[in-house]
Amino acid sequence: MDAYMPKLGFGAMRLPFNGSESNIDLEHVKRMVDLFLSKGFKYFDTAYVYHNGQSEIALKETLIKRHPRASYWIATKMPMWSVRNVKDLDRIFNEQLKKLGVDYIDYYLLHAMDSGREDTALKVKAYEFGERIKREGKARFVGFSFHDSADVLERILKNHPQMDFVQLQINYLDVKEGSAGKLYDQAIKYNKPIIIMEPVKGGSLAKLDKAAETALKAARPNDSIASWALRYCASLPGVYTTLSGMSNIQQVEDNVKTFENFEPLTEDEQKLIDIVLRAGKGTAVPCTACRYCLEACPQDIAIPDVFTIYNEYMRAGDKEAAVSSYRAISQGHTAENCIACGACMEHCPQGIKIPDALAEAAKIA
Ligand code: SF4
Ligand code: SF4
Repeated sequence: MDAYMPKLGFGAMRLPFNGSESNIDLEHVKRMVDLFLSKGFKYFDTAYVYHNGQSEIALKETLIKRHPRASYWIATKMPMWSVRNVKDLDRIFNEQLKKLGVDYIDYYLLHAMDSGREDTALKVKAYEFGERIKREGKARFVGFSFHDSADVLERILKNHPQMDFVQLQINYLDVKEGSAGKLYDQAIKYNKPIIIMEPVKGGSLAKLDKAAETALKAARPNDSIASWALRYCASLPGVYTTLSGMSNIQQVEDNVKTFENFEPLTEDEQKLIDIVLRAGKGTAVPCTACRYCLEACPQDIAIPDVFTIYNEYMRAGDKEAAVSSYRAISQGHTAENCIACGACMEHCPQGIKIPDALAEAAKIA
């Protein structure tokens, strides 16, 4: 792995867009990319599926065509749910090289591995494929992103020591209240560099309830609430880099400020996070707005948008604002139109019972 890795990575899954998420605002992304690079950061994380396949192309236009190849690192991912045989691996990988406009990938990942996708990976020989693309100079490092139990993670790490790194969903809420701590422990046990995704839990740790925000602001008045979540992750030993899905130039500015002169959390600050969590009520629906479920929905329900509005309502209690945002979702795409077919659920890495949660959210309106 690269010896010097800045602790902040640029996640390209929630880029700014106009109207539809496929229509990425490239001029805005250029400013974000330029600022990120100008501050000495290098790691850009995308995937075949982000922004309906447009994220890789957006990075080609805003980063790859405009900056020297040695000035950045590209990470992208193989959509394991779309792979049926060995040929698919080569076909998709070659398509990615083309879409990105590069002849090698720095960090290549098997995307969203879990128990079922491990079976697929074994069947299609995805691990051998990873070794081959490294031998051929088409990838520098190969790893996997993961959403399942610590037991499944251990099985994969034990059986495939050739994996260079692992990407895990870690944030202070999931460590204290979920199973992220156990995943972290496994990665440490097998001595794998950890890339953290969702450190701010899809943005939900960027806004806390009033008492929690007041406590954090009192401790560090100039720091954003999101910066606490990022510093928590980047302070963990063994963490190679922390990805932040950036949606506008202000977020890049804030993140860069946090990491330029990085200060790990002190013991007192760790305790403050514990207190904040004990007082807070967490996130009502643990949706990270990854949007993987959207493609499967025959009703075209705006699933993550509904959950974002619902979570904000549960956090702030502002019914009028929630109803107004809910009614702004285009007609026919709100929660009441869900037919409870369940097709979305197998795509959700957070294991959310989407139809039930939508039914609950629909009560806002
Ligand atoms: S359960 Fe509802 S939200 Fe999920 S795919 Fe079916 S209609 Fe869409
Ligand atoms: S419901 Fe699940 S799959 Fe859909 S956006 Fe939220 S976290 Fe992602």
